Amino acid sequence: MPSLTVENYVKTIALIAAANPPGTAVGTGLIAQALHVSPGTVTGMLKTLSEANLATYAPYEGALLTEAGQRLAMKVIRRHRLLERFLAETLTMTWDEVHEEAEHMEHAASERLIDRIDAFLGYPSVDPHGDPIPRADGSLAAIEAAPLALRQAGERFRVVRVIDQDPAFLRYLSECGLELDAAGEVVANRPESGAIVCTMAGRSVALGLAAAEKVLVSIAAPGRDPDDHEPRAAESRAKRG
Ligand SMILES: [Zn+2]
Repeated sequence: MPSLTVENYVKTIALIAAANPPGTAVGTGLIAQALHVSPGTVTGMLKTLSEANLATYAPYEGALLTEAGQRLAMKVIRRHRLLERFLAETLTMTWDEVHEEAEHMEHAASERLIDRIDAFLGYPSVDPHGDPIPRADGSLAAIEAAPLALRQAGERFRVVRVIDQDPAFLRYLSECGLELDAAGEVVANRPESGAIVCTMAGRSVALGLAAAEKVLVSIAAPGRDPDDHEPRAAESRAKRG
């Protein structure tokens, strides 16, 4: 059955579910929004998915992927993220260009091609946005990262993931030097001003806190290399709600 539409639905449900506590049903409204279709269209499709045993669906609650649905979703996400990485590395496409291409290619690439690409790239763990690439067995590595918006003055960090992949937003981040793996230091974080100020490669960069929520960073104690993972002392005091 896996048609393009079915693949897009299970992928979308899995991506939304990943941001919520396990076992939380994904509402039809959220799915409709993500796929730019009407809630009625989503309801119809969820019935199809439940008949195919890919999801369970309860009216007014939403959808939960079954084991088979989750497995299919991980396959599609694996194809998507490996293709993005492949395009970035072999054709030097930038991180704001790869998503759109991968959206089309993810439905066409065979498992065999994807496994070859995986091996060719040396089994990478993340895509060009820092999103984890599901392994061939469907498992996913955990990524230790927290929003830049929660970091305090004096903290050094490294950009490890960007969760908004709007091309214009990504290009803006590139202009600011906030690219994947870039290291920086927080100069000031004043929620009342709505902005965080950092230095990136010796240059001062101000970013709105809403944007800084979407840039995930790994942290290190001041004066240490951000690759040395320190226990997250900053984590508990950083929760501002
Ligand atoms: Zn993408």
